[in-house]
Amino acid sequence: MKPNDVYDILIIGGGPAGLTAGLYAARSRLKALLVERMGFGGQLLTYEQVDNYPGFPEGISAFGLSELISAQALRFGLATRSGEVVGLEVTEPVKTVHLVDGDLYARTVIIAAGASPNKLGVKGEVELTGRGVSYCAVCDAPFYRDQDVAVVGGGDTAIEEALYLTKFAQHVYVIHRRDRLRATQVIQERASQNEKISFVLETVVTEIRGDDQGVVGLDLRGTRSGEASQLAVSGAFVFVGIQPNTGFLPPEILCNKAGFVVTDQEMAASVPGIFAAGDVRAKELRQIVTAVGDGATAAFNAGRYIESQL
Ligand code: NAP
Repeated sequence: MKPNDVYDILIIGGGPAGLTAGLYAARSRLKALLVERMGFGGQLLTYEQVDNYPGFPEGISAFGLSELISAQALRFGLATRSGEVVGLEVTEPVKTVHLVDGDLYARTVIIAAGASPNKLGVKGEVELTGRGVSYCAVCDAPFYRDQDVAVVGGGDTAIEEALYLTKFAQHVYVIHRRDRLRATQVIQERASQNEKISFVLETVVTEIRGDDQGVVGLDLRGTRSGEASQLAVSGAFVFVGIQPNTGFLPPEILCNKAGFVVTDQEMAASVPGIFAAGDVRAKELRQIVTAVGDGATAAFNAGRYIESQL
């Protein structure tokens, strides 16, 4: 490793948090590199419309917003490369980031690797994924034109995706394990006013049934009544929360019980020079607006850390 091969800041993940960290780092003229395994935008790319990001009174398409954020970061000269991070060594003063196809070196690392959808863990789910079981309405909803589908979950993602599905499906059943939804009130109201959506509350899915063509129905059980029932649907969209993409982190980096990276207010993780931002971080509110705030804070404090080491 030559001194020129060492980045000031290496950002893992190209969602809103990573791109904003990159924007701040590039604007500060730090030598930064952002590594992304797929396309820029992260989980944003699995949504259709963003209604709660300030500055867009009519809302903005999720894809459009991710394009704007990445264009802004690139305008300041942020270097990027595609690649999958598979390991991280937190040695001093230079950290080593292992990619599938080689190693990269940096004084600081910002973990902005985001999160992935949880699985339900019921019979049929794995076998029927891609044949009726989906974790992304924006990607798959057009396949279900005029058909009946189910959404599993009661959070913001489940209800927003149910609303999106009504553009294509004949009817959308929202199956939720409790008697009330977790989603934000305004989103709930929009869903209750939509005639194409019905709520199946206090109910869990016990099996997703299918044939050669794909999903044919769900086996359900009432959580209070214990009663078993069946629902005929040709699609099952599962939105039961997220898990952080932290499989590549070493044990020195402290995570909470659910696996999210623990940081202080400066976005500093438990190891000096390591920062985390966005959905991968242990925090209360996971929104685009909090992700970009995390990204800016992480890049600012990574810069400070580098200065303190000179
Ligand atoms: P979430 O808020 O954690 O909601 C997950 C939902 O799945 C909950 O209703 C939960 O039920 C249910 N659930 C979890 N495990 C289950 C299981 N095994 N079986 C059946 N149901 C299960 O996750 P999310 O909706 O993906 O949202 C993640 C974060 O992103 C949240 O902070 C959310 O606010 C944010 N987000 C915001 C927006 C927006 O502001 N527009 C859009 C999307 C996401 P319980 O309610 O009973 O726990």
